[in-house]
Amino acid sequence: MTAIPKSHPRLNSLLIREKLVNGFDNNLVAKEGLLAHGRGEAFDYLIGEKTSKSAKEAIKAAAIMLKNAENSVISVNGNFAALCPKEIIALAKNTDSKIEVNLFYSSEKRKKAITKILKKSGAKKIFGLNKKSSTKLLGIDSARRIVDKDGIFSADVVLVPLEDGDRTIALKNAKKKIITFDLNPLSRTAETSDITIVDNVTRAMKLLVAESKKKGKKSIKYNNNKNLKQSILEIKKNLERRAKNA
Ligand code: ATP
Repeated sequence: MTAIPKSHPRLNSLLIREKLVNGFDNNLVAKEGLLAHGRGEAFDYLIGEKTSKSAKEAIKAAAIMLKNAENSVISVNGNFAALCPKEIIALAKNTDSKIEVNLFYSSEKRKKAITKILKKSGAKKIFGLNKKSSTKLLGIDSARRIVDKDGIFSADVVLVPLEDGDRTIALKNAKKKIITFDLNPLSRTAETSDITIVDNVTRAMKLLVAESKKKGKKSIKYNNNKNLKQSILEIKKNLERRAKNA
């Protein structure tokens, strides 16, 4: 680990970067995952590296959707496992969701490393590991079309963080409700999902875990297109403020 001074103005961002680099060195994260993170970091700068009002609304709606689901699944890739292993387990517990490992750039080595960190964080059952219970989603070329019959394939709600647009569209075509975390409000995933949380997954997962613990509310008025528009306007406001002070 490199020593990052505690007073660094972008300490959190550097710590996240370090987790991913360590994840890469430990076979958790793919090269492409580092590139995807770089894209995310750029958008995090634009949103001011804090959770916006619109993201908080999306988080509330996501907690309710997960809790109301019949069969919800949290899809886990290398970046997600490297950044939030404890929160994945807590969210699965609070919302009675399954956990499935699903990789764009699949390799047995990476699956093993992800399983190891999830188990270390408290996971009991993990889907997506047994070839015998795998099946294919239509409309995707990559390894990501391979899903677990008892996991994503039969789910009504799927949480897919840091996702690629093709798979989100394929999951929507398979009639799933989709929740995603995506710092880029302009991505195809952001536009296709039912609930898009435009925030850094490291901040938003903590809030989603806390929200999913709350009892009470069974429904909420939520419109993803309106929420995305709001996210874009929040970026615009942030940039205008920065321009004024430049
Ligand atoms: P699409 O295919 O949906 O148009 P894409 O080609 O960018 O988008 P990916 O490379 O799979 O698809 O995207 C990963 C997404 O995850 C990017 O939009 C990126 O902004 C986002 N992202 C990366 N790191 C984080 C993070 N820590 N928190 C939230 N989102 C992130």
